[in-house]
Amino acid sequence: MACEYILDKDGKVMGIICSRGSRAPKCKFCGKVSAKLCDFPVHGSKQGKTCDAPMCDDHATSVGEDRDFCPDHCRQEEMQLETAEREAEMRELAGLRAGEAGRHEATASADEARRQGSEIAGAQRGLFHD
Ligand SMILES: [Zn+2]
Ligand SMILES: [Zn+2]
Repeated sequence: MACEYILDKDGKVMGIICSRGSRAPKCKFCGKVSAKLCDFPVHGSKQGKTCDAPMCDDHATSVGEDRDFCPDHCRQEEMQLETAEREAEMRELAGLRAGEAGRHEATASADEARRQGSEIAGAQRGLFHD
């Protein structure tokens, strides 16, 4: 088994290719000859690049013209959509709750004001009596 190092222009190792017989890329998920590469845009250290996981037709999910996602990223994309939807819902709920809390507070302070008012009135009556 011969391993080949891929070096970038600074001589840093970018990756290693180990060829086992056939050089054809194999599906990352089942080992069949891969026909496609994952086009999922990755974030973090590889920002701006794509996943590029080799995959066969069975494991590629078409997400648009000439765009395919690997099973991992297909799931991730779905999860992100779900998370975004859930977050939007949460924000809506939080907004509603904040509005309700505001109303409760307003009612409470109005009661408080009335109570204080009658106390003062009572105290004033007491003063007049004496
Ligand atoms: Zn496969
Ligand atoms: Zn991928």
